[in-house]
Amino acid sequence: MSSHLPDFVDPWRMVDQRRVFSGYAAIADLSRLAKIVLGAESDIELQLEFERDREKRACIKGSVKAELLLECQRCLSPMSFSVMSQLNIALVRSTEEAERLPDDYDPLLLGEPRIRLLDIVEEELLLSLPQVSRHEVGECCPDAHQETEQAATDLDEPDERVNPFAVLAKLRRK
Ligand SMILES: [Zn+2]
Repeated sequence: MSSHLPDFVDPWRMVDQRRVFSGYAAIADLSRLAKIVLGAESDIELQLEFERDREKRACIKGSVKAELLLECQRCLSPMSFSVMSQLNIALVRSTEEAERLPDDYDPLLLGEPRIRLLDIVEEELLLSLPQVSRHEVGECCPDAHQETEQAATDLDEPDERVNPFAVLAKLRRK
């Protein structure tokens, strides 16, 4: 499996050439996702297959696999979250075209001639995140909450961690 991926591609050309990209992405390369999750347990595994379906629709199939670390919103300690997502994306040029798609397709509205491959991966992962991340009942870390609260009072300390309320607000906006 090649881990060398081009940054940007012309998606229509990739469809005509039936290109397949597979490899790995680091969470650091997915900046919007990196702001929402605590991290990832390993690199994100991806396979993007550009092709036409039987109706000659330009589409992207393939898969995205990730082991993300989310912050439990009950005890504020990390929890693992596995994503194993099958892609079923149709390339469209207008919202009208998107509305005509069969329900099992996710439309990807292309305004520009090029797309960043990792944006497709990132979008898929963002859509896979739960509305509210919480450990299963009984699996919360009993001591973590207090520790995190003490850390959070130290406001002058530069902190790369995401404010849990900002994350919540972002999720609620969906
Ligand atoms: Zn918890």
